[in-house]
Amino acid sequence: MSEQRRIRVLDEKTIAQIAAGEVIERPASVVKELVENALDAGAAHVTVEVKGGGTDLIRVTDDGRGIAAEELAIAFRRHATSKIEGPGDLFAIRSLGFRGEALPSIAAVADVEVLTQADGETGGTFLRLENGAVARQEARARPRGTTLTVRDLFRRVPARRKFLKSPATENGRIAAVVSQYALACPGVGFSLLTEGRQTLRTSGSGDLLAGITDVYGAKTAARMLPVTAEERSWTAADGETAVTVTGMVGSPDVSRSSRGDISLFVNGRWVTSRTLSYAVEEAYHGLLMTGRHPVAVLAITVPPADVDVNIHPAKSEVKFRREPDVFRAVQRAVRGALTAQLPTASVAEPAAPFAVPSTGEVRRPPEPDGASAAPAPRAGTPSFLAALPMLRVLGQVMGAYIVAEGPDGIYVIDQHAAHERVRYDAISARRAAKQPDVQGLLQPGTLELTPRQAAVLAGVLPTLAELGFAMEPFGERSYLVRSVPAHLVKGWDAALRDLLEELGGEEKSRWEEKAVASVACHNAIRSGQALGMEEMQELVRQLEGTANPHTCPHGRPTIVKLERDYLERHFGR
Ligand code: ADP
Ligand code: MG
Repeated sequence: MSEQRRIRVLDEKTIAQIAAGEVIERPASVVKELVENALDAGAAHVTVEVKGGGTDLIRVTDDGRGIAAEELAIAFRRHATSKIEGPGDLFAIRSLGFRGEALPSIAAVADVEVLTQADGETGGTFLRLENGAVARQEARARPRGTTLTVRDLFRRVPARRKFLKSPATENGRIAAVVSQYALACPGVGFSLLTEGRQTLRTSGSGDLLAGITDVYGAKTAARMLPVTAEERSWTAADGETAVTVTGMVGSPDVSRSSRGDISLFVNGRWVTSRTLSYAVEEAYHGLLMTGRHPVAVLAITVPPADVDVNIHPAKSEVKFRREPDVFRAVQRAVRGALTAQLPTASVAEPAAPFAVPSTGEVRRPPEPDGASAAPAPRAGTPSFLAALPMLRVLGQVMGAYIVAEGPDGIYVIDQHAAHERVRYDAISARRAAKQPDVQGLLQPGTLELTPRQAAVLAGVLPTLAELGFAMEPFGERSYLVRSVPAHLVKGWDAALRDLLEELGGEEKSRWEEKAVASVACHNAIRSGQALGMEEMQELVRQLEGTANPHTCPHGRPTIVKLERDYLERHFGR
Protein backbone atom coordinates (compact mmCIF):
# COMPACT_ATOMS: atom_id res chain seq x y z
CA MET A 1 0.00 0.00 0.00
CA SER A 2 1.29 3.43 -0.84
CA GLU A 3 0.90 6.26 1.60
CA GLN A 4 -2.44 8.08 1.69
CA ARG A 5 -2.40 11.27 -0.39
CA ARG A 6 -4.87 14.09 -0.65
CA ILE A 7 -7.38 14.00 -3.51
CA ARG A 8 -6.75 16.69 -6.10
CA VAL A 9 -7.40 17.34 -9.77
CA LEU A 10 -4.41 16.40 -11.93
CA ASP A 11 -2.57 19.15 -13.78
CA GLU A 12 -3.11 19.65 -17.53
CA LYS A 13 0.23 18.05 -18.51
CA THR A 14 -0.53 14.82 -16.66
CA ILE A 15 -4.07 14.72 -18.01
CA ALA A 16 -2.73 15.21 -21.53
CA GLN A 17 -0.22 12.36 -21.09
CA ILE A 18 -2.89 9.99 -19.84
CA ALA A 19 -5.22 10.88 -22.70
CA ALA A 20 -2.37 10.54 -25.19
CA GLY A 21 -1.71 7.04 -23.90
CA GLU A 22 -5.14 5.92 -25.06
CA VAL A 23 -5.05 7.52 -28.48
CA ILE A 24 -1.39 7.15 -29.42
CA GLU A 25 -0.20 3.66 -28.68
CA ARG A 26 2.49 3.38 -31.33
CA PRO A 27 3.79 5.18 -34.44
CA ALA A 28 1.07 3.63 -36.59
CA SER A 29 -1.55 5.35 -34.38
CA VAL A 30 -0.06 8.74 -35.25
CA VAL A 31 -0.18 7.88 -38.93
CA LYS A 32 -3.79 6.74 -38.60
CA GLU A 33 -4.90 9.98 -36.92
CA LEU A 34 -3.05 12.23 -39.36
CA VAL A 35 -4.32 10.36 -42.42
CA GLU A 36 -7.87 10.57 -41.03
CA ASN A 37 -7.47 14.34 -40.60
CA ALA A 38 -6.22 14.67 -44.18
CA LEU A 39 -9.21 12.69 -45.45
CA ASP A 40 -11.63 14.74 -43.33
CA ALA A 41 -10.08 17.85 -44.92
CA GLY A 42 -11.13 16.56 -48.34
CA ALA A 43 -7.62 15.81 -49.60
CA ALA A 44 -7.19 14.28 -53.07
CA HIS A 45 -3.57 13.32 -52.39
CA VAL A 46 -2.00 12.17 -49.15
CA THR A 47 1.72 11.54 -48.74
CA VAL A 48 3.09 9.74 -45.68
CA GLU A 49 6.80 9.73 -44.92
CA VAL A 50 8.34 7.75 -42.06
CA LYS A 51 11.83 7.29 -40.70
CA GLY A 52 13.18 5.11 -37.91
CA GLY A 53 9.98 3.08 -37.73
CA GLY A 54 8.11 6.34 -37.14
CA THR A 55 9.96 7.37 -33.98
CA ASP A 56 12.42 9.64 -35.80
CA LEU A 57 9.98 11.16 -38.24
CA ILE A 58 6.39 10.95 -39.40
CA ARG A 59 5.26 13.50 -41.97
CA VAL A 60 1.82 13.61 -43.54
CA THR A 61 1.16 16.05 -46.36
CA ASP A 62 -2.25 16.68 -47.87
CA ASP A 63 -3.90 19.04 -50.32
CA GLY A 64 -7.06 19.45 -48.28
CA ARG A 65 -8.80 22.57 -47.08
CA GLY A 66 -6.14 23.59 -44.55
CA ILE A 67 -6.40 25.31 -41.15
CA ALA A 68 -6.97 29.06 -40.77
CA ALA A 69 -4.13 30.98 -39.10
CA GLU A 70 -6.15 32.05 -36.08
CA GLU A 71 -7.44 28.49 -35.49
CA LEU A 72 -4.12 26.71 -35.77
CA ALA A 73 -3.04 26.89 -32.13
CA ILE A 74 -6.58 26.05 -30.98
CA ALA A 75 -6.49 22.82 -32.98
CA PHE A 76 -3.85 21.58 -30.50
CA ARG A 77 -6.02 22.23 -27.45
CA ARG A 78 -7.72 19.20 -25.95
CA HIS A 79 -11.25 18.55 -27.24
CA ALA A 80 -10.90 21.18 -29.97
CA THR A 81 -12.64 20.09 -33.14
CA SER A 82 -14.36 21.61 -36.16
CA LYS A 83 -16.31 18.42 -36.79
CA ILE A 84 -19.09 18.39 -34.23
CA GLU A 85 -20.83 21.12 -32.25
CA GLY A 86 -22.77 19.32 -29.55
CA PRO A 87 -23.87 15.95 -28.18
CA GLY A 88 -26.64 15.63 -30.77
CA ASP A 89 -24.03 15.43 -33.52
CA LEU A 90 -22.47 12.34 -31.93
CA PHE A 91 -25.22 10.22 -33.40
CA ALA A 92 -24.83 11.42 -36.96
CA ILE A 93 -21.09 11.49 -37.46
CA ARG A 94 -19.95 11.67 -41.05
CA SER A 95 -16.28 12.58 -40.46
CA LEU A 96 -13.53 10.23 -39.31
CA GLY A 97 -12.49 12.52 -36.44
CA PHE A 98 -14.80 14.14 -33.91
CA ARG A 99 -13.14 13.81 -30.50
CA GLY A 100 -10.62 16.61 -30.95
CA GLU A 101 -7.99 14.53 -29.20
CA ALA A 102 -5.48 13.52 -31.86
CA LEU A 103 -3.42 16.67 -32.29
CA PRO A 104 -3.04 17.47 -28.55
CA SER A 105 -2.27 13.81 -27.85
CA ILE A 106 0.46 13.72 -30.48
CA ALA A 107 1.89 17.04 -29.23
CA ALA A 108 2.00 15.59 -25.70
CA VAL A 109 4.37 12.80 -26.74
CA ALA A 110 6.39 14.31 -29.61
CA ASP A 111 7.61 17.53 -31.17
CA VAL A 112 5.25 18.76 -33.84
CA GLU A 113 5.43 21.24 -36.72
CA VAL A 114 2.55 22.28 -38.97
CA LEU A 115 2.63 24.21 -42.18
CA THR A 116 -0.81 24.94 -43.55
CA GLN A 117 -2.65 27.16 -45.97
CA ALA A 118 -6.39 27.39 -45.61
CA ASP A 119 -9.00 27.95 -48.26
CA GLY A 120 -9.62 31.65 -48.68
CA GLU A 121 -6.39 32.80 -47.02
CA THR A 122 -3.62 34.44 -48.97
CA GLY A 123 -0.59 33.16 -47.07
CA GLY A 124 0.17 30.06 -45.06
CA THR A 125 1.02 29.61 -41.38
CA PHE A 126 3.80 27.70 -39.63
CA LEU A 127 3.47 26.49 -36.06
CA ARG A 128 5.94 24.64 -33.89
CA LEU A 129 5.10 22.95 -30.59
CA GLU A 130 7.60 21.66 -28.09
CA ASN A 131 6.56 19.74 -25.01
CA GLY A 132 2.95 20.26 -25.97
CA ALA A 133 3.25 24.07 -25.90
CA VAL A 134 3.43 26.53 -28.79
CA ALA A 135 7.09 27.46 -29.33
CA ARG A 136 6.74 29.48 -32.49
CA GLN A 137 4.12 30.71 -34.95
CA GLU A 138 4.80 32.71 -38.10
CA ALA A 139 3.54 33.38 -41.62
CA ARG A 140 5.06 31.10 -44.25
CA ALA A 141 4.01 30.32 -47.80
CA ARG A 142 2.81 26.98 -49.14
CA PRO A 143 0.12 25.79 -51.55
CA ARG A 144 -3.35 24.83 -50.24
CA GLY A 145 -3.22 21.97 -47.75
CA THR A 146 -1.47 20.87 -44.60
CA THR A 147 1.86 19.26 -43.72
CA LEU A 148 2.19 17.86 -40.23
CA THR A 149 5.63 16.75 -39.09
CA VAL A 150 6.07 14.65 -35.94
CA ARG A 151 9.58 14.15 -34.58
CA ASP A 152 11.08 12.18 -31.70
CA LEU A 153 7.92 10.30 -30.86
CA PHE A 154 7.88 9.04 -27.24
CA ARG A 155 11.30 10.56 -26.50
CA ARG A 156 9.79 11.95 -23.31
CA VAL A 157 7.87 8.71 -22.64
CA PRO A 158 10.57 6.04 -22.33
CA ALA A 159 8.06 3.53 -20.94
CA ARG A 160 6.11 3.71 -24.21
CA ARG A 161 9.23 3.54 -26.29
CA LYS A 162 10.26 0.31 -24.64
CA PHE A 163 7.09 -1.38 -25.86
CA LEU A 164 7.79 -0.64 -29.48
CA LYS A 165 8.99 -3.42 -31.76
CA SER A 166 11.84 -3.11 -34.26
CA PRO A 167 11.64 -0.27 -36.83
CA ALA A 168 10.92 -2.89 -39.51
CA THR A 169 7.90 -4.17 -37.55
CA GLU A 170 6.61 -0.67 -36.79
CA ASN A 171 7.08 0.24 -40.46
CA GLY A 172 5.04 -2.82 -41.34
CA ARG A 173 2.20 -1.64 -39.12
CA ILE A 174 2.34 1.83 -40.60
CA ALA A 175 2.23 0.34 -44.09
CA ALA A 176 -0.80 -1.71 -43.03
CA VAL A 177 -2.61 1.45 -41.84
CA VAL A 178 -1.88 3.39 -45.03
CA SER A 179 -2.89 0.35 -47.10
CA GLN A 180 -6.22 0.17 -45.26
CA TYR A 181 -7.04 3.79 -45.98
CA ALA A 182 -5.91 3.40 -49.59
CA LEU A 183 -8.47 0.57 -49.86
CA ALA A 184 -11.13 2.56 -48.01
CA CYS A 185 -10.66 5.59 -50.27
CA PRO A 186 -9.70 4.46 -53.77
CA GLY A 187 -10.47 7.99 -54.97
CA VAL A 188 -7.56 9.44 -52.99
CA GLY A 189 -3.98 9.04 -54.23
CA PHE A 190 -1.78 7.72 -51.42
CA SER A 191 1.97 7.65 -51.34
CA LEU A 192 4.08 6.05 -48.62
CA LEU A 193 7.80 6.65 -48.26
CA THR A 194 9.46 4.32 -45.77
CA GLU A 195 13.04 5.16 -44.80
CA GLY A 196 13.34 7.11 -48.05
CA ARG A 197 11.93 4.37 -50.27
CA GLN A 198 8.58 4.50 -52.00
CA THR A 199 6.72 1.49 -50.62
CA LEU A 200 3.18 2.23 -51.74
CA ARG A 201 1.61 4.43 -54.36
CA THR A 202 -2.02 4.37 -55.37
CA SER A 203 -3.45 6.10 -58.39
CA GLY A 204 -6.51 7.51 -56.64
CA SER A 205 -8.52 6.76 -59.77
CA GLY A 206 -11.58 5.88 -57.70
CA ASP A 207 -11.65 2.31 -58.95
CA LEU A 208 -11.52 -0.20 -56.07
CA LEU A 209 -9.91 -2.90 -58.20
CA ALA A 210 -7.13 -0.47 -59.13
CA GLY A 211 -6.64 0.22 -55.42
CA ILE A 212 -6.50 -3.50 -54.66
CA THR A 213 -3.93 -3.91 -57.43
CA ASP A 214 -1.81 -1.12 -55.94
CA VAL A 215 -1.93 -2.63 -52.46
CA TYR A 216 -1.98 -6.40 -52.99
CA GLY A 217 -0.54 -6.73 -56.48
CA ALA A 218 -1.99 -7.80 -59.81
CA LYS A 219 -2.07 -11.53 -59.03
CA THR A 220 -4.38 -11.13 -56.04
CA ALA A 221 -6.44 -8.47 -57.80
CA ALA A 222 -7.08 -10.86 -60.68
CA ARG A 223 -8.73 -13.30 -58.25
CA MET A 224 -11.12 -10.81 -56.64
CA LEU A 225 -14.88 -11.15 -57.00
CA PRO A 226 -17.24 -8.18 -56.81
CA VAL A 227 -19.69 -7.97 -53.95
CA THR A 228 -22.69 -6.47 -55.60
CA ALA A 229 -25.40 -7.17 -53.06
CA GLU A 230 -26.43 -3.58 -52.81
CA GLU A 231 -29.18 -3.14 -50.32
CA ARG A 232 -30.45 -5.36 -47.56
CA SER A 233 -33.06 -4.32 -45.12
CA TRP A 234 -35.16 -5.86 -42.45
CA THR A 235 -38.23 -4.68 -40.74
CA ALA A 236 -37.87 -5.17 -37.05
CA ALA A 237 -40.48 -4.49 -34.41
CA ASP A 238 -38.91 -1.10 -33.67
CA GLY A 239 -38.26 0.07 -37.19
CA GLU A 240 -36.13 -0.77 -40.17
CA THR A 241 -32.39 -0.95 -40.70
CA ALA A 242 -30.88 -0.62 -44.14
CA VAL A 243 -27.45 -2.12 -44.66
CA THR A 244 -25.48 -1.80 -47.85
CA VAL A 245 -22.48 -4.04 -48.42
CA THR A 246 -20.22 -3.42 -51.41
CA GLY A 247 -16.63 -4.21 -52.30
CA MET A 248 -14.62 -7.22 -53.37
CA VAL A 249 -13.69 -10.56 -51.89
CA GLY A 250 -11.02 -13.04 -52.90
CA SER A 251 -11.91 -16.23 -54.68
CA PRO A 252 -11.31 -19.21 -52.33
CA ASP A 253 -8.05 -20.10 -54.07
CA VAL A 254 -6.56 -16.88 -52.68
CA SER A 255 -6.09 -17.31 -48.97
CA ARG A 256 -3.91 -16.04 -46.17
CA SER A 257 -2.58 -17.48 -42.94
CA SER A 258 -3.99 -14.58 -40.89
CA ARG A 259 -7.10 -12.41 -40.82
CA GLY A 260 -5.03 -9.31 -41.59
CA ASP A 261 -6.34 -8.94 -45.11
CA ILE A 262 -10.01 -8.79 -44.19
CA SER A 263 -10.64 -5.04 -44.44
CA LEU A 264 -13.88 -3.62 -43.13
CA PHE A 265 -15.04 -0.05 -43.50
CA VAL A 266 -18.17 1.12 -41.76
CA ASN A 267 -19.45 4.36 -43.25
CA GLY A 268 -15.94 4.97 -44.60
CA ARG A 269 -14.21 4.30 -41.29
CA TRP A 270 -11.70 1.45 -41.07
CA VAL A 271 -12.79 -0.71 -38.16
CA THR A 272 -11.74 -3.94 -36.54
CA SER A 273 -14.66 -6.16 -35.68
CA ARG A 274 -14.34 -9.78 -34.66
CA THR A 275 -18.02 -10.27 -35.33
CA LEU A 276 -17.96 -8.95 -38.87
CA SER A 277 -14.69 -10.70 -39.70
CA TYR A 278 -16.38 -13.85 -38.53
CA ALA A 279 -19.36 -13.08 -40.77
CA VAL A 280 -16.99 -12.88 -43.74
CA GLU A 281 -15.28 -16.14 -42.79
CA GLU A 282 -18.62 -17.87 -42.26
CA ALA A 283 -19.46 -17.11 -45.88
CA TYR A 284 -16.37 -19.11 -46.92
CA HIS A 285 -17.41 -22.09 -44.83
CA GLY A 286 -16.38 -25.28 -46.59
CA LEU A 287 -14.46 -23.37 -49.25
CA LEU A 288 -11.23 -22.65 -47.38
CA MET A 289 -8.97 -25.07 -45.58
CA THR A 290 -8.90 -24.92 -41.81
CA GLY A 291 -6.52 -22.23 -40.66
CA ARG A 292 -6.75 -20.25 -43.90
CA HIS A 293 -8.41 -16.84 -44.13
CA PRO A 294 -9.87 -14.92 -47.02
CA VAL A 295 -8.97 -11.56 -48.55
CA ALA A 296 -11.84 -9.10 -48.42
CA VAL A 297 -12.39 -5.38 -48.86
CA LEU A 298 -15.89 -4.46 -47.78
CA ALA A 299 -17.63 -1.14 -47.36
CA ILE A 300 -20.58 -1.44 -45.03
CA THR A 301 -23.00 1.46 -44.97
CA VAL A 302 -25.65 1.89 -42.30
CA PRO A 303 -27.64 4.99 -41.33
CA PRO A 304 -25.33 7.04 -39.05
CA ALA A 305 -27.90 6.84 -36.27
CA ASP A 306 -27.65 3.04 -36.29
CA VAL A 307 -23.97 2.90 -35.40
CA ASP A 308 -22.12 4.24 -32.37
CA VAL A 309 -18.58 5.21 -33.32
CA ASN A 310 -17.81 6.75 -29.94
CA ILE A 311 -16.93 3.60 -28.01
CA HIS A 312 -13.17 3.40 -28.51
CA PRO A 313 -10.44 6.02 -27.92
CA ALA A 314 -8.77 5.24 -31.23
CA LYS A 315 -12.20 4.99 -32.93
CA SER A 316 -11.24 1.61 -34.36
CA GLU A 317 -14.26 -0.25 -33.03
CA VAL A 318 -17.91 0.54 -33.49
CA LYS A 319 -21.18 -0.68 -32.03
CA PHE A 320 -24.22 -1.39 -34.14
CA ARG A 321 -27.77 -0.85 -32.99
CA ARG A 322 -28.73 -4.14 -34.65
CA GLU A 323 -25.56 -6.16 -34.97
CA PRO A 324 -27.30 -9.41 -36.02
CA ASP A 325 -28.77 -7.64 -39.05
CA VAL A 326 -25.38 -6.31 -40.07
CA PHE A 327 -23.81 -9.73 -39.51
CA ARG A 328 -26.39 -11.37 -41.76
CA ALA A 329 -26.05 -8.71 -44.42
CA VAL A 330 -22.27 -9.15 -44.59
CA GLN A 331 -22.45 -12.92 -44.60
CA ARG A 332 -25.12 -13.07 -47.30
CA ALA A 333 -23.43 -10.47 -49.47
CA VAL A 334 -20.11 -12.35 -49.41
CA ARG A 335 -21.74 -15.74 -49.87
CA GLY A 336 -23.69 -14.29 -52.79
CA ALA A 337 -20.51 -13.09 -54.45
CA LEU A 338 -18.90 -16.51 -54.02
CA THR A 339 -21.88 -18.54 -55.24
CA ALA A 340 -22.27 -16.30 -58.26
CA GLN A 341 -18.78 -17.25 -59.40
CA LEU A 342 -18.36 -20.87 -58.42
CA PRO A 343 -19.99 -23.86 -60.05
CA THR A 344 -23.06 -24.57 -57.91
CA ALA A 345 -21.97 -28.10 -57.14
CA SER A 346 -18.74 -27.04 -55.52
CA VAL A 347 -20.56 -24.76 -53.11
CA ALA A 348 -23.06 -27.35 -51.96
CA GLU A 349 -20.41 -30.02 -51.85
CA PRO A 350 -16.91 -28.57 -51.70
CA ALA A 351 -14.56 -30.18 -54.19
CA ALA A 352 -10.80 -30.08 -54.52
CA PRO A 353 -8.80 -27.86 -54.27
CA PHE A 354 -10.99 -26.08 -51.72
CA ALA A 355 -12.19 -29.13 -49.83
CA VAL A 356 -11.34 -29.72 -46.23
CA PRO A 357 -9.87 -33.23 -46.09
CA SER A 358 -12.49 -35.39 -44.44
CA THR A 359 -9.88 -37.39 -42.59
CA GLY A 360 -8.75 -34.61 -40.36
CA GLU A 361 -7.79 -31.06 -39.89
CA VAL A 362 -4.91 -29.67 -41.86
CA ARG A 363 -2.27 -28.59 -39.39
CA ARG A 364 -0.98 -25.06 -39.63
CA PRO A 365 1.48 -23.06 -37.60
CA PRO A 366 -0.19 -21.10 -34.82
CA GLU A 367 -1.71 -17.77 -35.75
CA PRO A 368 0.57 -14.78 -35.32
CA ASP A 369 -2.04 -13.04 -33.16
CA GLY A 370 -1.15 -15.66 -30.60
CA ALA A 371 -4.61 -17.11 -29.97
CA SER A 372 -3.32 -20.69 -29.87
CA ALA A 373 -0.48 -22.29 -27.90
CA ALA A 374 0.76 -25.72 -28.25
CA PRO A 375 -1.96 -27.98 -26.81
CA ALA A 376 -1.32 -28.86 -23.18
CA PRO A 377 -0.40 -32.52 -22.74
CA ARG A 378 -3.36 -34.39 -21.31
CA ALA A 379 -3.22 -36.72 -18.34
CA GLY A 380 -1.84 -40.08 -19.36
CA THR A 381 0.47 -38.59 -21.98
CA PRO A 382 3.80 -40.27 -21.49
CA SER A 383 6.85 -38.49 -20.28
CA PHE A 384 9.07 -37.26 -23.07
CA LEU A 385 12.19 -39.31 -23.58
CA ALA A 386 15.32 -37.82 -25.01
CA ALA A 387 15.70 -40.32 -27.83
CA LEU A 388 13.38 -42.69 -29.63
CA PRO A 389 14.01 -46.43 -29.52
CA MET A 390 13.91 -48.47 -32.73
CA LEU A 391 10.30 -48.72 -33.81
CA ARG A 392 8.42 -51.26 -35.90
CA VAL A 393 5.76 -49.58 -38.05
CA LEU A 394 2.40 -51.36 -37.89
CA GLY A 395 0.38 -49.13 -40.18
CA GLN A 396 -1.47 -45.87 -40.73
CA VAL A 397 -4.71 -44.97 -38.94
CA MET A 398 -7.25 -42.26 -39.71
CA GLY A 399 -5.08 -41.19 -42.60
CA ALA A 400 -3.12 -39.05 -40.20
CA TYR A 401 -1.21 -41.18 -37.71
CA ILE A 402 1.44 -43.85 -37.92
CA VAL A 403 1.13 -46.62 -35.36
CA ALA A 404 4.37 -48.32 -34.35
CA GLU A 405 5.55 -50.79 -31.74
CA GLY A 406 8.56 -50.17 -29.51
CA PRO A 407 10.22 -52.24 -26.77
CA ASP A 408 8.11 -50.60 -24.07
CA GLY A 409 4.80 -49.78 -25.67
CA ILE A 410 2.80 -48.58 -28.66
CA TYR A 411 3.64 -45.30 -30.38
CA VAL A 412 1.14 -43.13 -32.26
CA ILE A 413 2.94 -40.60 -34.44
CA ASP A 414 1.38 -37.52 -36.05
CA GLN A 415 2.68 -37.87 -39.60
CA HIS A 416 2.58 -34.14 -40.39
CA ALA A 417 4.24 -33.02 -37.18
CA ALA A 418 6.86 -35.76 -37.55
CA HIS A 419 7.72 -34.74 -41.08
CA GLU A 420 7.95 -31.09 -40.02
CA ARG A 421 10.46 -32.09 -37.33
CA VAL A 422 12.53 -34.19 -39.76
CA ARG A 423 12.57 -31.48 -42.35
CA TYR A 424 13.33 -28.73 -39.81
CA ASP A 425 16.38 -30.58 -38.53
CA ALA A 426 17.63 -31.33 -42.05
CA ILE A 427 17.21 -27.70 -43.13
CA SER A 428 18.91 -26.41 -39.97
CA ALA A 429 21.84 -28.79 -40.44
CA ARG A 430 22.33 -27.76 -44.06
CA ARG A 431 22.04 -24.12 -43.07
CA ALA A 432 24.69 -24.55 -40.40
CA ALA A 433 26.96 -26.21 -42.96
CA LYS A 434 26.16 -23.38 -45.42
CA GLN A 435 24.96 -25.98 -47.93
CA PRO A 436 21.25 -25.36 -48.47
CA ASP A 437 19.43 -27.83 -50.69
CA VAL A 438 18.83 -25.40 -53.54
CA GLN A 439 16.92 -25.71 -56.76
CA GLY A 440 17.35 -23.08 -59.48
CA LEU A 441 14.12 -22.02 -61.18
CA LEU A 442 14.09 -22.62 -64.94
CA GLN A 443 12.48 -19.24 -65.29
CA PRO A 444 13.04 -16.67 -62.55
CA GLY A 445 9.75 -16.01 -60.76
CA THR A 446 8.49 -12.66 -59.56
CA LEU A 447 7.09 -11.99 -56.16
CA GLU A 448 4.90 -8.93 -55.70
CA LEU A 449 4.48 -7.84 -52.12
CA THR A 450 2.21 -5.63 -50.09
CA PRO A 451 4.01 -2.78 -48.29
CA ARG A 452 3.76 -4.68 -45.04
CA GLN A 453 5.16 -7.88 -46.51
CA ALA A 454 7.98 -5.92 -48.13
CA ALA A 455 8.95 -4.42 -44.78
CA VAL A 456 9.10 -7.87 -43.21
CA LEU A 457 10.99 -9.38 -46.13
CA ALA A 458 13.71 -6.73 -45.86
CA GLY A 459 14.37 -7.92 -42.31
CA VAL A 460 14.52 -11.60 -43.15
CA LEU A 461 16.36 -11.66 -46.50
CA PRO A 462 19.69 -12.97 -45.13
CA THR A 463 17.97 -15.90 -43.41
CA LEU A 464 16.06 -16.71 -46.59
CA ALA A 465 19.32 -16.64 -48.55
CA GLU A 466 20.81 -19.15 -46.10
CA LEU A 467 17.81 -21.41 -46.71
CA GLY A 468 18.30 -21.31 -50.48
CA PHE A 469 16.19 -18.42 -51.72
CA ALA A 470 18.17 -16.31 -54.20
CA MET A 471 16.17 -13.11 -54.58
CA GLU A 472 16.91 -9.66 -55.87
CA PRO A 473 14.88 -6.45 -55.73
CA PHE A 474 12.94 -5.89 -58.92
CA GLY A 475 11.02 -2.63 -58.85
CA GLU A 476 9.38 -0.95 -55.90
CA ARG A 477 7.90 -3.90 -54.10
CA SER A 478 8.71 -6.90 -56.20
CA TYR A 479 11.52 -9.37 -56.14
CA LEU A 480 12.99 -11.61 -58.79
CA VAL A 481 13.37 -15.14 -57.42
CA ARG A 482 16.09 -17.22 -59.07
CA SER A 483 16.35 -20.22 -56.80
CA VAL A 484 14.39 -21.75 -53.94
CA PRO A 485 14.84 -24.54 -51.36
CA ALA A 486 14.53 -27.81 -53.31
CA HIS A 487 11.39 -29.02 -51.54
CA LEU A 488 9.61 -25.76 -52.39
CA VAL A 489 9.98 -25.84 -56.18
CA LYS A 490 6.22 -26.29 -56.23
CA GLY A 491 4.49 -23.61 -54.21
CA TRP A 492 7.49 -21.47 -53.21
CA ASP A 493 5.40 -18.43 -53.91
CA ALA A 494 2.66 -19.33 -51.43
CA ALA A 495 5.30 -20.49 -48.94
CA LEU A 496 7.03 -17.10 -49.01
CA ARG A 497 3.78 -15.19 -48.70
CA ASP A 498 2.64 -17.26 -45.74
CA LEU A 499 6.02 -16.83 -44.13
CA LEU A 500 5.83 -13.05 -44.44
CA GLU A 501 2.30 -13.03 -43.02
CA GLU A 502 3.34 -15.16 -40.08
CA LEU A 503 6.39 -13.07 -39.32
CA GLY A 504 4.39 -9.83 -39.58
CA GLY A 505 2.92 -10.36 -36.13
CA GLU A 506 6.06 -11.75 -34.54
CA GLU A 507 8.78 -10.31 -32.41
CA LYS A 508 11.73 -9.63 -34.71
CA SER A 509 14.11 -11.59 -32.51
CA ARG A 510 12.12 -14.71 -33.39
CA TRP A 511 12.01 -14.16 -37.15
CA GLU A 512 14.99 -16.35 -37.97
CA GLU A 513 13.77 -19.35 -36.05
CA LYS A 514 10.19 -18.84 -37.27
CA ALA A 515 11.30 -18.51 -40.88
CA VAL A 516 13.10 -21.85 -40.73
CA ALA A 517 10.05 -23.49 -39.11
CA SER A 518 7.74 -22.03 -41.72
CA VAL A 519 9.91 -23.18 -44.63
CA ALA A 520 10.13 -26.64 -43.03
CA CYS A 521 6.36 -26.84 -42.67
CA HIS A 522 5.55 -26.08 -46.28
CA ASN A 523 4.96 -29.12 -48.48
CA ALA A 524 5.45 -31.39 -45.48
CA ILE A 525 3.36 -34.58 -45.53
CA ARG A 526 -0.16 -33.58 -44.59
CA SER A 527 -2.76 -35.08 -42.43
CA GLY A 528 -5.14 -36.94 -44.72
CA GLN A 529 -2.38 -38.12 -47.03
CA ALA A 530 -2.23 -41.89 -47.51
CA LEU A 531 1.27 -43.28 -46.91
CA GLY A 532 2.79 -46.55 -48.06
CA MET A 533 4.59 -48.87 -45.64
CA GLU A 534 8.02 -47.90 -46.94
CA GLU A 535 7.30 -44.20 -46.72
CA MET A 536 6.20 -44.61 -43.12
CA GLN A 537 9.26 -46.68 -42.23
CA GLU A 538 11.50 -44.07 -43.80
CA LEU A 539 9.77 -41.23 -41.95
CA VAL A 540 9.99 -43.02 -38.60
CA ARG A 541 13.65 -43.90 -39.20
CA GLN A 542 14.38 -40.23 -39.93
CA LEU A 543 12.43 -39.15 -36.87
CA GLU A 544 14.51 -41.52 -34.70
CA GLY A 545 17.57 -39.67 -35.96
CA THR A 546 16.45 -36.17 -34.91
CA ALA A 547 17.73 -34.50 -31.79
CA ASN A 548 14.25 -33.71 -30.51
CA PRO A 549 11.79 -36.20 -31.97
CA HIS A 550 9.01 -35.46 -29.48
CA THR A 551 7.88 -32.05 -30.70
CA CYS A 552 7.44 -30.36 -34.05
CA PRO A 553 9.26 -27.05 -34.66
CA HIS A 554 6.13 -25.17 -33.48
CA GLY A 555 6.30 -26.99 -30.16
CA ARG A 556 3.39 -29.35 -30.68
CA PRO A 557 3.84 -33.01 -29.74
CA THR A 558 4.68 -35.49 -32.49
CA ILE A 559 4.15 -38.70 -30.52
CA VAL A 560 1.78 -40.23 -28.02
CA LYS A 561 2.91 -43.42 -26.32
CA LEU A 562 0.78 -46.11 -24.72
CA GLU A 563 3.11 -47.64 -22.14
CA ARG A 564 3.28 -51.42 -21.75
CA ASP A 565 2.85 -50.88 -17.96
CA TYR A 566 -0.31 -48.91 -18.54
CA LEU A 567 -1.77 -51.63 -20.75
CA GLU A 568 -0.93 -54.35 -18.25
CA ARG A 569 -2.44 -52.41 -15.38
CA HIS A 570 -5.49 -51.60 -17.45
CA PHE A 571 -6.10 -55.25 -18.33
CA GLY A 572 -5.41 -56.42 -14.80
CA ARG A 573 -2.43 -58.57 -15.69
P1 ADP B 1 -10.66 15.81 -34.71
O1 ADP B 1 -10.14 15.22 -35.98
O2 ADP B 1 -11.29 14.79 -33.84
O3 ADP B 1 -11.53 17.00 -34.94
P2 ADP B 1 -7.90 16.50 -34.24
O4 ADP B 1 -7.17 16.77 -32.99
O5 ADP B 1 -7.45 15.37 -35.06
O6 ADP B 1 -9.42 16.31 -33.86
O7 ADP B 1 -7.88 17.80 -35.12
C1 ADP B 1 -8.39 19.03 -34.59
C2 ADP B 1 -8.89 19.92 -35.69
O8 ADP B 1 -7.79 20.37 -36.49
C3 ADP B 1 -9.82 19.25 -36.68
O9 ADP B 1 -11.15 19.27 -36.22
C4 ADP B 1 -9.61 20.06 -37.95
O10 ADP B 1 -10.43 21.20 -37.93
C5 ADP B 1 -8.19 20.53 -37.83
N1 ADP B 1 -7.27 19.72 -38.67
C6 ADP B 1 -6.41 18.77 -38.23
N2 ADP B 1 -5.71 18.25 -39.24
C7 ADP B 1 -6.12 18.88 -40.36
C8 ADP B 1 -5.75 18.79 -41.76
N3 ADP B 1 -4.83 17.92 -42.20
N4 ADP B 1 -6.40 19.62 -42.61
C9 ADP B 1 -7.33 20.49 -42.18
N5 ADP B 1 -7.70 20.61 -40.90
C10 ADP B 1 -7.12 19.83 -40.00
MG1 MG C 1 -8.60 13.87 -36.11
